[in-house]
This record gives sequence, structure tokens and C-alpha cells, in this order.
Amino acid sequence: MSEKYHNNFLKEVEEMVEEGEWVKMCMQCGVCAGSCPLGPHWAHPPQEIFMMIRAGKREEVLRSDSMWMCTSCYNCVVRCPRKLPITHIMHGLANYAHRLGLSPKNQPTQQFATLFWNNLAQTGRVNELKLSLGIYFKDGFAQGVKNAMAMQSVGLGMVKAKRLNPMELFGGHGVKDKTGFHAMLKKAKEIEDRRKNFA
Ligand code: SF4
Ligand code: SF4
Repeated sequence: MSEKYHNNFLKEVEEMVEEGEWVKMCMQCGVCAGSCPLGPHWAHPPQEIFMMIRAGKREEVLRSDSMWMCTSCYNCVVRCPRKLPITHIMHGLANYAHRLGLSPKNQPTQQFATLFWNNLAQTGRVNELKLSLGIYFKDGFAQGVKNAMAMQSVGLGMVKAKRLNPMELFGGHGVKDKTGFHAMLKKAKEIEDRRKNFA
């Protein structure tokens, strides 16, 4: 058997990916691919990803950037005649590929997801100012200054409208029980690591 094909990949997805047990229910009607506003621009729209999983194309699926492009618009979910939770499966596959270290490098939505998570995990609430700066400066200082200058009118408008608080640079808001929040994240990581070791 070619290394590119893994006969048990469907079973692996069923066991390891959130909502992965639904993939076998796909009847390849193509409604999701036709409903996805962005699918035609991806290497593999959802219908194709599900077909590739069943065909055992493990590397091709897990290294794909298609799952990272899903905007969670839920168009596909409301139209799927088999009621597959397509959006959740796409995010579950992206998450699984990330856990295995197989997700594509420098993929913009993956970079945003990582910045967002690291930001949120500090205090339990997103610090919009630090998140925006993190995005602007992700490609270095010079590019960051250019990005910030290009967006300054938007930023100032948000400050005026009280949607952005400059003081958040020095701390910002968070959940009341930060200790409990971090304990919850630690527990979730332990569970995730157990699953990773099982993979
Ligand atoms: S709409 Fe549902 S059944 Fe049809 S191809 Fe997409 S996932 Fe499969
Ligand atoms: S939820 Fe994701 S996969 Fe479904 S239609 Fe929207 S962008 Fe496409």
C-alpha cells in the first residue's frame, strides 16, 4: 500500500476528531460544496475532504489548508440533507492536524487562531488592542508600523466610539476567577495530551 493511503483513516477521524463520526454519513451529493461561499477557491471543499477521508488520504487531508479557511457561516450545515455538522468537522480536522503538527505553516487563519487563543488564554477575555497589535506586527516591526499606520483612522474611530480602549495595553479586563479559568485550561490540556499520545 502507498504511504499516501491509510485504510484506517476514517476510523481515526471518527475517534480523534470532533464530530468525526459523522463523516461516514456523507452521501457525496455536493450541496455543501455548492453552498460554501468560499469552497470554490479552496483546494478541497468539504464534500471532497470527506471523500478523501473515506479514501484514506491522510496526509493530503491533514496537511490541507482548506479546513483553516472555513468562516463558520453555517451555509453548508443548514442545507446538508444528511444534517452533518460540517462546520464543526472542518474545525475539528484543523484542530487535529494542529495537534499532530501537520497543519500548513504560515497559513493566515491559523496564525490568527493562534494569536487569538494565546490572547484569550491569559485572562479569559480577549484584549482587542493587544490582539490587533499582534496581528499588525506578526511579520516584523517595520511591517507592523506600516500596518498600524494604514489602519490608524479605523483605530481612532474605534477609540472615539469606545470600542477600543488604549489603556488595555497596560492590562485590560479578564474573568473574575482567573485561577479557576487557568485550572480549567490545564485540565483540558491534560485531556488533549492524552488523546495526542493515543494517536
Ligand atoms: S451536503 Fe452533506 S451529504 Fe451532501 S456532500 Fe455535503 S456533507 Fe455530504
Ligand atoms: S461553514 Fe465553512 S465549510 Fe460551511 S459553507 Fe461556511 S465557510 Fe463553507
